[in-house]
Amino acid sequence: MNYLWAGASHLGRLRPNNEDAVHPAEPGSGPGPAVIAVADGLGGHVGGEIASRLAIDSAVATQGTPAERITAANTTVVEAIVENPDLAGMGTTLTLGIFAESGQLELAHVGDSRAYLYRGGEFQQLTTDHTYVAQLVAQGRLTPTEAEHHPQRNLLTRVVGMAKTLAVDTLTKELMPGDRILLCSDGLTGMLTDSEIAAFLSEGEPPEETVWTLIEAANNAGGEDNVTVALVDVAA
Ligand code: CA
Repeated sequence: MNYLWAGASHLGRLRPNNEDAVHPAEPGSGPGPAVIAVADGLGGHVGGEIASRLAIDSAVATQGTPAERITAANTTVVEAIVENPDLAGMGTTLTLGIFAESGQLELAHVGDSRAYLYRGGEFQQLTTDHTYVAQLVAQGRLTPTEAEHHPQRNLLTRVVGMAKTLAVDTLTKELMPGDRILLCSDGLTGMLTDSEIAAFLSEGEPPEETVWTLIEAANNAGGEDNVTVALVDVAA
């Protein structure tokens, strides 16, 4: 399989600093394996920025499955807090995919950053948000629309860096030429609906252009949060 990818992160229009992180931050291409990751940090003055950067760097440097990489990232963030108690309370989401030469995508994920598959005009969320409202939706106690407007919609139930042990969700997907895989922070999905995002993906512009089109659209829609987008196109 040959992959083309791009990733970018933007402050948005309202936040004083960018607590998101992305890997890689430069566009590229190749047969795989390619490691692509998005993190959205939280906590304290500088904690969020530190947590997302530490988590991404640790996950990328670790050899192993996506879940093993997220587990390593969790240990790194937890240990950083032990060393510097001023950072207590920091944490981060982490969504990481390994795009293999075989065409298989292995994904691992903690938090409310998301991975989506765009295939043949269909746009499908691959990950499940680890949020309080997503739990209520799964239990049938909220509709997805109610969840989008719920005052506690940002409350996370799982975060990298919160505890020494961390449950990591994993999934695998056999990719096909023409597939587009989107990883993003909630600064994108909070500002644009799935159908709006899908419409931009349907335009078929290369990953780098598409990533910036999506970031610009999120900012035009309010840009209330940091916006981070990574896109991988599957070529033949
Ligand atoms: Ca965010």
